Order: sequence, then C-alpha cells, then structure tokens
Amino acid sequence: MELQSSETRIKNPTPLTIVSNAIRDGLQIRAVNGQGLGVFARRLYEENEIILAFGGAEVASEKILDFTHFMQISPQSYLGPSGQLDDYINHNCDPNSAAFFQEDILVLKAIRDIKIEEQLSIDYSTIIFNEPTIFECACHSKNCRKTIGNFYSLSSRMQRAFLKKGIVPLLSKYSREQIGF
Ligand SMILES: [Zn+2]
Repeated sequence: MELQSSETRIKNPTPLTIVSNAIRDGLQIRAVNGQGLGVFARRLYEENEIILAFGGAEVASEKILDFTHFMQISPQSYLGPSGQLDDYINHNCDPNSAAFFQEDILVLKAIRDIKIEEQLSIDYSTIIFNEPTIFECACHSKNCRKTIGNFYSLSSRMQRAFLKKGIVPLLSKYSREQIGF
C-alpha cells in the first residue's frame, strides 16, 4: 500500500465504513512476479460466494492524492485502503471476482468458480469513475485491454456488458445522473 494513501486518510479521519476481513482462512497474500502482492485462493470458491468484505475509511475524492487501491463507493467518495489483505486484489481484464454492495458494505464476490491457487482479481474499470489516470495492464488474459482506465474509458458496448452482468457497484446504488455518467 502506498504511504500517500495513509496520509490522505489522516486528512479525513471520519471512518464511515470499517469492517474486518472476517473471512480470511481461505486466502493467502503472496508476491506475484513483477506485480507486487496478490491474493490467492487456498480453497475452492463457488460462483456467487462472498469472499471478503472490503475495509478502510471513506475518503472524499478531492482529498485523495494517490488513488492506488481506492475504490469508488459514492459519487463523491472512495473507500480507502484497509491495510489488510483486501488491498491487494489485483486487476485482471478477465476477472474471477467483482465488487458488490451488500447492504452498505462493499464485498468481493466470486463471479465464477475459483480454483485453489488461483489469484483473485477484479476489473478495476468497474470501481473507478472520477479517477482519470490510465494504467498499463499486464494481466496477460486473452481479452487484455492493455490499458486500464475508469468506467468511461470503456467502449459503450463493454459498459453495457458490464452493467448487464451487474458488476458495477456504484451504478447499482446511484443513478447515472448522480454519478455524472
Ligand atoms: Zn489486462
């Protein structure tokens, strides 16, 4: 986790959503070649199974200096890093998991069966709207887009496909007008 993120949290210390990674036994954090750390399944996860709850404090968008590992949870705010295992879910253009709101808590759910030793991944374009940075992608999946940007950076065809799958948490809770989409 980037140190800048911690500094940002101190500027906005109001923790609105702090949950612990209650479900941790089946997961392991581990170094990934050339990509820092990643989270791996240590048991099978079935499609639709909730794997963990994301932790961290809610931070207003304008107070964030470095969006690394921040996930957008409202039109104006992001969920900051928790300092725990859930900070290390990497991006993949062909992910096995996605973020969903369960009540008001953001959870990670398997979107297909996940095998033991498989790295957990989500598509970062489903969780960022305001953040304009484009990242290079080296996920090496068959459908790799080569770059990762916010939801608007996706083609309209892909946006529709993601919405149909229901894997864009912000749009499950807020209208397009509220997000400015
Ligand atoms: Zn990719």
